[in-house]
Amino acid sequence: MATQEHIPPGEAETRLQWNAALERDLLWDGVFFFGVRSTGIYCRPLCPSRRPRRNQVRFFSVTNAAEDAGFRPCLRCKPTDVAPPGPVRLVHLVCMLMEQDTEASRTLTTVCDRIGVGPRTVQRAFQRTLDVTFQEYVGALRLQSFKALLHGGSIVTDALYQAGYGSSSQLYSDTHSLLGMTPSDYRRGGQGLSVDYALMEYGERLVAAAATPQGVCALFLGSSALELKNALRQEFPNARVSEDSGTLLERLQAGLISLGATNQVPGLPDSAQNLALRHRILKALQPSSASVPA
Ligand SMILES: [Zn+2]
Repeated sequence: MATQEHIPPGEAETRLQWNAALERDLLWDGVFFFGVRSTGIYCRPLCPSRRPRRNQVRFFSVTNAAEDAGFRPCLRCKPTDVAPPGPVRLVHLVCMLMEQDTEASRTLTTVCDRIGVGPRTVQRAFQRTLDVTFQEYVGALRLQSFKALLHGGSIVTDALYQAGYGSSSQLYSDTHSLLGMTPSDYRRGGQGLSVDYALMEYGERLVAAAATPQGVCALFLGSSALELKNALRQEFPNARVSEDSGTLLERLQAGLISLGATNQVPGLPDSAQNLALRHRILKALQPSSASVPA
């Protein structure tokens, strides 16, 4: 894929590039180049050459920019031969950065600044590989963080804030609809609530959807019924959990049919693929009038 929208990385972002150059990280190949002032040569991050001191280095997101600045291509790593990263590697890189980042910096602008790639390219790459928008992916990541914080015993307002929701009452009710229960009930492991679940095969995997009368409260992907039931009991240790063979099962079946077949994408981390797929299934399970907030 041609990435036409390369923009030069800002000084604040070059720490990542420098670490990638020190580690000769393949993931960053074609994403940036570094020029060495003392030699007048520019290289790919994976170049085997010895690394100069940091203050000798300048970073470029395209080879033309390095050459305009007076650098010549390295004969060992041949920077002019490398193609820009395709959508899979771009998404891998973005997902990795967002795993490491604080919630507040998971924005399209921040991510694009860090890797020197334009927002349209990142958006297209997410759609093509994970079939979700960047914003949907961030929303799923935020919900996952929020749940983990509540599960770990954080108080609700702290968890909202730390997960990146802010802490207004509107957000409280939004998260309520995402959790199928109040955040406080979720924090108490579903104490006093009835949670139904339905299991269904989906490709080579099993999906478990869990719901309270207020809505879907969890979705799990796994390889065996035992694994999924254990995950469910762990998430709602204090709820009355029982298998549903009625409407939830029908909704799950209809939702999975509407999604069609989904294949694993080679080269992308399972965690990112599972997060995106869970989001897509959750979306398919929502009543048509509702939407999954990003
Ligand atoms: Zn080189």
